[in-house]
Amino acid sequence: MTAPAIVSDSLSLIGNTPLVRLAGPSEAAGAEIYGKCEFANPGASVKDRAALWIVRDAEERGALKPGGTIVEGTAGNTGIGLALVANALGYKSVIVMPETQSREKMDTLRALRAELVLVPAAPFSNPNHFVHTSRRIAEETDGAIWANQFDNIANRRAHIESTAPEIWAQMDGRIDGFICAAGTGGTIAGTGMGLKAFDEAITVGLADPHGAALYNYYAHGELKAEGSSVAEGIGQGRITANLEGAPIDAQFRISDEEGLYWVERLLAEEGLCLGLSSGINVAGAVALAKQIGPGARVATILCDTGFRYLSSLYNPEWLRAKGLPVFPWLE
Ligand code: PMP
Repeated sequence: MTAPAIVSDSLSLIGNTPLVRLAGPSEAAGAEIYGKCEFANPGASVKDRAALWIVRDAEERGALKPGGTIVEGTAGNTGIGLALVANALGYKSVIVMPETQSREKMDTLRALRAELVLVPAAPFSNPNHFVHTSRRIAEETDGAIWANQFDNIANRRAHIESTAPEIWAQMDGRIDGFICAAGTGGTIAGTGMGLKAFDEAITVGLADPHGAALYNYYAHGELKAEGSSVAEGIGQGRITANLEGAPIDAQFRISDEEGLYWVERLLAEEGLCLGLSSGINVAGAVALAKQIGPGARVATILCDTGFRYLSSLYNPEWLRAKGLPVFPWLE
């Protein structure tokens, strides 16, 4: 038996996540589909990586000094990652998020010792949007930095330097495609760039939820959104600095129903409890694998744990109110 070695501190637990073969999706696509288990990070999401890289970058630039404060506007997972990294390195964290986000994320952030600032949901053009509010708080707080995950490319560097080489090594260099959705775009752009540095022929796909503008941008050169999605953490309406130059070869528009179909099947058949962005990614992986052809080896991201959504995705009243199908065992 080989067990992972002892590590010297909790930050060393970020990344190096396992890759799991997904049986149902592989069968559905006639391909080999693998999920990167980002729920296995200490903060239970892919955003721990961005949090660590952003904080290390601020330290290296001399912007963040001992005892300083990290401020961010976040739908939740980045805040969770930043709060943990801040605690581990002796910083304070202030997290600004829209009050429409899941109850679990808010409770989790408070429990993790972050100072939580809730603001009403508002469009990005509104100065009180949570991103602008977080920047203001950072500017007004002594010794504070603004993490700025959307336009700080230390975010995508996390994936160029960790996620991509991990997937490449885990798949022994035998990988035909990679796909995921975009929130900040750090994961898709960074992992895509990192994988293409190993092999330019790898097809990088974007799985875009309804209500996001990137599908139309990559398909037709126009940022245009249609429909809506209840998926948290994904769905982008602009080209963030992290998305600039992202090597996207193929794009797929994925509905919440398609994502939920895989969330349900992966839970019921494979014992994986995931959030909706993971389901949308898996639906995208099936579509990309079919496009590449029989036997294609495709990796995607299992972004966060479903335990974070017990009051939403796993709650029949909530699902019914949104007009979404309820998992049969919850009926
Ligand atoms: N899924 C979830 C649940 C997230 O919280 C995020 C982060 N916003 C993403 C996917 C997308 O990751 P990224 O910001 O790297 O595009």
